[in-house]
Amino acid sequence: MSTQQPLDGRVAIVTGASRGIGAATARALHRAGAAVVLAARDADALHTLAAEIEADGGRALAVPTDVTDAAAVERMVDATLDRFGHLDAAVNNAAGGGHSPTPLAEVDIADFDSALAVNLRGVFLAMKYEIPAMLDWGAGTIVNMSSTAGLQAVGGLTGYVSAKFGLIGLTRTAALDYADRGIRVNALAPGPIHTEQLEAAGEQARQAAAQAMPMRRIGLPEEVAAAVVWLCSDESSFITGATLPIDGGKLAGSPPFRRPTGGGRPNPTAT
Ligand code: NAP
Repeated sequence: MSTQQPLDGRVAIVTGASRGIGAATARALHRAGAAVVLAARDADALHTLAAEIEADGGRALAVPTDVTDAAAVERMVDATLDRFGHLDAAVNNAAGGGHSPTPLAEVDIADFDSALAVNLRGVFLAMKYEIPAMLDWGAGTIVNMSSTAGLQAVGGLTGYVSAKFGLIGLTRTAALDYADRGIRVNALAPGPIHTEQLEAAGEQARQAAAQAMPMRRIGLPEEVAAAVVWLCSDESSFITGATLPIDGGKLAGSPPFRRPTGGGRPNPTAT
């Protein structure tokens, strides 16, 4: 006898599903019972993940999509409805474009535009086509992937920070527009998470990032995915317009001063 899962019978789109947090999220949604639609540009990666999910007894559809292309985003939603009949949940997670750390006046205009095109306009486009499908079905939940950089700026990242702050405004506006029509819209704000970029940065950089965190570690994609599943489930039924940090305490403030390992208050009982 199979156990009831929180998202049994639900259908979810995940953008940026070809790797990292998006791929982990697609796996978690599948394990929670949902059929998943996998969207990103890397068709091979999407088909490999879809095959993995189907081999595990799930339902998955790979839909190669560039989120900067309105027609492609509309096709992503149409393909979902053609295959699964309705849409319950969407995780707008794709990110890209942008520029390496650069003081604002030196940022290329094209690089700024591309950061906004993927990270902000791409989420607007996704919601523009996802929401009508959810209204037709009568209910839906949307999770938009912001960042701690969408709540606390990071110098040098003009494009990314602007987009991630904007995405929180987009999330709140959509939440208000549809709060009384059965659609909940929330955002997540991950801190440093161990995906490809941090893997490429090397062990030393990861250690440095970890030490700057109150929990003294970086997060895992699965820890973000677990929050997505919860926000897509009925367990979070009264939550909309919220932004939830998944950041090991980073946005709470500065960690307490600690002496380096081996230090600490001398033990008065020691001889
Ligand atoms: P990642 O490894 O760089 O993956 C980004 C995903 O977005 C890939 O699947 C990529 O696939 C897709 N993508 C990029 N441009 C696209 C486009 N134009 N159209 C469609 N898909 C596109 O990112 P991640 O680390 O997993 O992060 C996922 C999300 O969490 C992002 O929104 C990111 O800003 C946020 N976040 C991450 C961290 C972290 O430390 N990792 C921290 C805070 C927030 P293709 O290349 O195949 O298109």
